[in-house]
Amino acid sequence: MLWNYNCPDCHRPTAADWKLREGEVVCHLCERTHYPPTPHEDRYAYVDSEQWPKEMEDAVVALRGTICSVPGCYRERAKLVHRQSLKAGGKTSVDNLMPMCERHAVSKGERDYDEWLVAVRQEDADLKKDEPKFEITITSRPAAPDLPVADYSAPPGLMLPLAAARTPRPLKAAVANAPPLAELKLAIPFLRGPAGKVVFDYDWEMKKSGRCHVFLLAWPRSDEPDISLLGGPKYSWLSTAKDHLGVRDEKGSAQLELSLPGMPGGRWTAAVAVLDLGCEFQFTEYALAATS
Ligand SMILES: [Zn+2]
Ligand SMILES: [Zn+2]
Repeated sequence: MLWNYNCPDCHRPTAADWKLREGEVVCHLCERTHYPPTPHEDRYAYVDSEQWPKEMEDAVVALRGTICSVPGCYRERAKLVHRQSLKAGGKTSVDNLMPMCERHAVSKGERDYDEWLVAVRQEDADLKKDEPKFEITITSRPAAPDLPVADYSAPPGLMLPLAAARTPRPLKAAVANAPPLAELKLAIPFLRGPAGKVVFDYDWEMKKSGRCHVFLLAWPRSDEPDISLLGGPKYSWLSTAKDHLGVRDEKGSAQLELSLPGMPGGRWTAAVAVLDLGCEFQFTEYALAATS
């Protein structure tokens, strides 16, 4: 297996046997000796193989984390995939490898990642075009200009309703006498950053007289949420809720605020879930925002 990189002396493309990369090698162009870079040091260096060495996998995970790279997906990676396939000119390099969950890896296949993502988004948009439009924003507090703003600027499309990114699970509530389950309405995986608080502002209405609970919750991004445990011990420290008791066609506005514990480099998913006890509760407009 050949390790291809640019010579640190003459900067021209050169290569060394992967097994010999830890020793000194002589550049065949400038004939000076050097130590080849590691995958950590040169993310564009590549091996001439569809498979990658473990050191390269470690460098990819150090750079991109262990969670699926697809915006809106919080599942653990099942494998690395080539962003651009080798057939299309992609390389087996740290730069061109990304962690993905099994489902997204299978869906993407050999396709170019960017084209595939656009196609997936379009399918999602087609499915949802008859649903009401919501606006979701992630904002930083303007009064704190020294905050690393980049940590809050989410790429477009990051704010997918979670339902678009997961297969609905069979409702355990179908079991006789089981308690009703809350429905996960939306979730936002935050980027790395010192988010200290999430705020959910919403306008609501109910179609029938009745009762409903709205939950705002957060969990470390690497955890798979289990909202059937809402109100139980798993999220008791990371959720807050509001009760709505109303009559048919009643409308209102409300706000929920949740403080996140300080965790250096913590990555959070924030989500809103609704436990509708028969009032056909709806959000007519909402904004979910993270602030310091
Ligand atoms: Zn050279
Ligand atoms: Zn995924």
